[in-house]
Amino acid sequence: MKANRSIVWFKNDLRLHDNEALVSAIQNSNEVIPLFILDPRWSVHTIHGFRKTGNLRMRFIYENAKALQTKLRSIGSDLYIIEGMPEKILPELIIRYKVSDVYTKSEFAYDEQQIVKKVEKLTGMFRVGYHSFDTHSALGTDFRNSLNNHIVFSEFYTNAIANLEVRHICEMPSKINTPTLNEATDLQVFEKLVDVNAPFNIEGGEDAALQLINSYLENSKKLENFKSNDENSLAERSFISPYLSQGVLSSAYLLDKLLRHQKNNPNNVGAKRFINDLLWREFYFGMFLKFGRKFFKQGGIHNKELTCMPDFEALNKWIKADTGIEIIDASMKELGTTGVLDKKLRSLTANYLSKQLLVDWRLGAAYFESQLLDYDVCINYGNWSRFVGVGTDAKEDPKFDTEQFAYLYDSKGEYRKTWIR
Ligand SMILES: Cc1cc2nc3c(=O)[nH]c(=O)nc-3n(C[C@H](O)[C@H](O)[C@H](O)COP(=O)(O)OP(=O)(O)OC[C@H]3O[C@@H](n4cnc5c(N)ncnc54)[C@H](O)[C@@H]3O)c2cc1C
Repeated sequence: MKANRSIVWFKNDLRLHDNEALVSAIQNSNEVIPLFILDPRWSVHTIHGFRKTGNLRMRFIYENAKALQTKLRSIGSDLYIIEGMPEKILPELIIRYKVSDVYTKSEFAYDEQQIVKKVEKLTGMFRVGYHSFDTHSALGTDFRNSLNNHIVFSEFYTNAIANLEVRHICEMPSKINTPTLNEATDLQVFEKLVDVNAPFNIEGGEDAALQLINSYLENSKKLENFKSNDENSLAERSFISPYLSQGVLSSAYLLDKLLRHQKNNPNNVGAKRFINDLLWREFYFGMFLKFGRKFFKQGGIHNKELTCMPDFEALNKWIKADTGIEIIDASMKELGTTGVLDKKLRSLTANYLSKQLLVDWRLGAAYFESQLLDYDVCINYGNWSRFVGVGTDAKEDPKFDTEQFAYLYDSKGEYRKTWIR
């Protein structure tokens, strides 16, 4: 029997395509209330002194929420946007609008899981159904969980690729029956957090994301060339990660398309490289489910002894691009200005902070958390812990040679010239 009214609680799954929480709500309800909650905890300063979500990512979230709302409106629905803590907002709405069910995505990391637990407990008290869906990952839940014993990526990859199972992909809904409520649908709540009129050069929303992946899928040459020159280039990147991290683009949809492309074009090595890269995300999701909060400990998942300290002076020099090492300063300038940074430069700057400046790596990871457009808790902390030597795939005492790095990847100094004027 169809329930009366459901809430779809959008988080970092700001899309209509392949959104199982949304599709299930539509199938099982007469009316669906799409809801986005702007949690004030995203803007607090952490114990490390940074805002959890800095201006650049907040702006990107705003762009994505705006685009989602436009899409929802085009199919007869809307996006309600409310500021507050989900564990407070959701019970209020449940009572006010006699809601019978809440649909949302599931979480991999501790803080987010704690919020979900509170919401789930409260919905239980009101006898409201709480339904969560594993939609951030591209793999089926059981399949991904079956790989969790492989804590080295190459082993994970070999076992994953042998029988890769992409999870079920949902159709995009064409109509949603949404009630008119006396709640905010405007995006003003963002305006006190971020200047929404300042220039911003990344287009938000799933249409922009789908267009970007189509530029690869419809152009065999572009896909073929994906990272073909990776060994000595800083320019080879798809810029897809911000869309994946905000769930504007479904990773299952992307992986499925790449696998089909590869099947039809077995010699396309670019598709293989892209699939390989996407599996790193899956690997870290599984590792977070396995090791949980150990990823936030200084000694990481292996509880290693590290020589490092909370040296804020050195940290500030690193953040302000004032270390005197050009390749590090150029990277930190790019990150500070745009919220984007190439993977190699992320690993270099992370390693430099921890191994040369001997600063507690968690301060650097928290700065990345604040700054990155594509911040994802599992991927950020998973990669940081790896490159400072306390995570998965970690070398015994990894130390990058910054000069050699600059020589290899920026031999003509163009990248450094661009960012250090
Ligand atoms: C210290 C450090 C912190 C990082 N923090 C994040 C983060 O918070 N969020 C994030 O999405 N990526 C993170 N990465 C991984 C990687 O740097 C970015 O995914 C990549 O730079 C994004 O650019 P792109 O979309 O152009 O990626 P491409 O190089 O074009 O790769 C395609 C996609 O593959 C995935 N991918 C590639 N490499 C990795 C990797 N090492 N781990 C996980 N996924 C990968 C990403 O989804 C990416 O969009 C981090 C890496 C390091 C070294």
